[in-house]
Amino acid sequence: MLRSTLPLIVLAFAAAPSFAQWKLDDAFKAAKPEDLKDVESTPPPKDAIVLFDGKSADAWTKKDGKSEVKWKIADGTWEGVKGHGDIVTKEKFGGKFKLHVEFRVPYEPTNKGQGRGNSGVYPQGRYEVQILDSYGLKSGKNDCAAIYDIYPPKTNECKAPTIWQSYDIEFTAPTFGTDGKKTEPTHMTVHHNGVKVHDDVKVEKDNTTAGMGGDPSKPGPILLQDHGHPVQYRNIWILQIK
Ligand code: MG
Repeated sequence: MLRSTLPLIVLAFAAAPSFAQWKLDDAFKAAKPEDLKDVESTPPPKDAIVLFDGKSADAWTKKDGKSEVKWKIADGTWEGVKGHGDIVTKEKFGGKFKLHVEFRVPYEPTNKGQGRGNSGVYPQGRYEVQILDSYGLKSGKNDCAAIYDIYPPKTNECKAPTIWQSYDIEFTAPTFGTDGKKTEPTHMTVHHNGVKVHDDVKVEKDNTTAGMGGDPSKPGPILLQDHGHPVQYRNIWILQIK
């Protein structure tokens, strides 16, 4: 008995399909046709620093600040690799900046909650704007476009999984007096697919869950999270605001 069933079990595991897919199936129902249309890509403005152009990972390292990034680049997209770990820009940013990120989450119909297309964008490595497949949900503070565990987005602007989406994050770093006391917290405005979902909110906590921490009075990198899901990115740029 054991001798005959064991190879079958092994075969079943080997042949198990990945639950992540880049095509929707007939079971998926979109609420409206726009949800199935990619967001229009926004080219970097003249003075922007391009962080990912669809071809090169040169602006990035692993979180240790030195190791080469091995996320998969193909057809102008960049895909997170499970177990690889978070990635950060080599350059650190402070003051005020605008960060543009395009992303899409896979279709993972058998997964639930935080286990569905999870990644995240962290200005200064410390303040996560959540990426998740939250399509069609009443958004909570851990859903897509939430400032993780602090503020839910004002509205759920998610497109369907597999469809390209965008974040435009206006970030103002906290300020501190000479005595080291905070004089003004971080401010963030976030547009999700062009719709303002956070309007100049004050973020008092200087490291959201799974952030890289560090001294909040110092500049920090842009971090993209590896949460074990093949979330894809394209067209990432940052514009420092004087
Ligand atoms: Mg996340």
